[in-house]
Amino acid sequence: DMRIADFDEELWAAIQAEERRQEEHIELIASENYASPRVLEAQGSVLTNKYAEGYPGRRYYGGCEHVDVAERLAIDRAKQLFGAAYANVQPHSGSQANAAVYFALLEPGDTILGMSLADGGHLTHGARVNFSGKVFRAVQYGLDPATGEVDYEQVARLAREHRPKMIVAGFSAYSRIMDWNRFREIADEVGAYLMVDMAHVAGLVAAGLYPNPVPIADVTTSTTHKTLRGPRGGLILAKANEEIEKRLNSMVFPGLQGGPLMHVIAAKAVCFKEAMTPEFRAYQEQVVANARAMAEVFLGRGYKIVSGGTDNHLFLVDFIDKGITGKAADEALGRAHITVNKNAVPNDPQKPFVTSGIRVGTPAVTTRGLREPEVRELAGWMCDILDDLGNEAVIERVRGQVIELCRRFPVYRR
Ligand code: PLP
Repeated sequence: DMRIADFDEELWAAIQAEERRQEEHIELIASENYASPRVLEAQGSVLTNKYAEGYPGRRYYGGCEHVDVAERLAIDRAKQLFGAAYANVQPHSGSQANAAVYFALLEPGDTILGMSLADGGHLTHGARVNFSGKVFRAVQYGLDPATGEVDYEQVARLAREHRPKMIVAGFSAYSRIMDWNRFREIADEVGAYLMVDMAHVAGLVAAGLYPNPVPIADVTTSTTHKTLRGPRGGLILAKANEEIEKRLNSMVFPGLQGGPLMHVIAAKAVCFKEAMTPEFRAYQEQVVANARAMAEVFLGRGYKIVSGGTDNHLFLVDFIDKGITGKAADEALGRAHITVNKNAVPNDPQKPFVTSGIRVGTPAVTTRGLREPEVRELAGWMCDILDDLGNEAVIERVRGQVIELCRRFPVYRR
């Protein structure tokens, strides 16, 4: 019963180093967060040992009576949290959830209309390199470059022209409120299904701070590990429709997956319970307030923000007029222990691996306790680095300030 530390030094060193990286770096990647110790506890539990193909009460294996309890709790809490008639908590990831919905409701070769990766959509919304762009005929909409907001006129025009069988709304990099009702109207006009992928904003939706797509879309998908702050995993929700529910269930299992990850499903149940607390709502309010405060600092320092600001947990800084690249900015900030990701911005002249912007998100820093005074200071340090990109003295100064900030706001060692 040797522990990893004694049995496998190489691996243990990597785990320890990652733990230290998470403690000593400021995490601004908008899709990341720190799961609670309870979520980690569930994921490290013996539920990982159990095969439970099927659904609660209808399993292909014996001995499922206890994992059935865990999965029923996760399902019931997901339904309650998001006002859904149906929940499937088995998808291993957000991509698997989206795949299940497409294969449940579409045939290969059918047309889907989703937001392009370059404009803030996800790979699974029809990108050419992804199964969604290979198996289906994907048409892509984007932002109005003048406003930085979704070009709904373009969505309507493309829908009328291509008659998609499904319209996909949702995003990985968009700082405004998406108008789910507008998408619904367009989908209804052309007789398309509407799928909303709320992966990024699920936590804000759970807290009532972002419009809930569940009553509007035919099917809503999500991840559970971003703003929702649960385990890495996927989720499918839907309003009442027996036919769609049956197709979704059989596409997740046996259509695409085998045994569900019962330890992760247990962690989803914990996450949903946490998301029902007043503390979670206060946390999400702080996430939004922090994003707004940081965006204001960037604007005040002469940086452009795509769409001019933010209504959610993230924003995109546009460096086109500064002549610096997202790649260089990402690397310089990284040397100061500030983790962001480079991100394409409207009319970006740079290639996707270089880009002219960065995406900044506040879910993780808010979990470790930063509020407006700290994130304003942090945004100021970021501007110091970006103002004089390549100045190692500034990077070194900020690195010291960041490490000091991280020590004041530990993630796990409280
Ligand atoms: N959908 C959106 C909008 C996302 O941002 C992501 C994550 O990057 C996914 C789906 C995919 O989730 P996963 O990485 O769990 O497959």
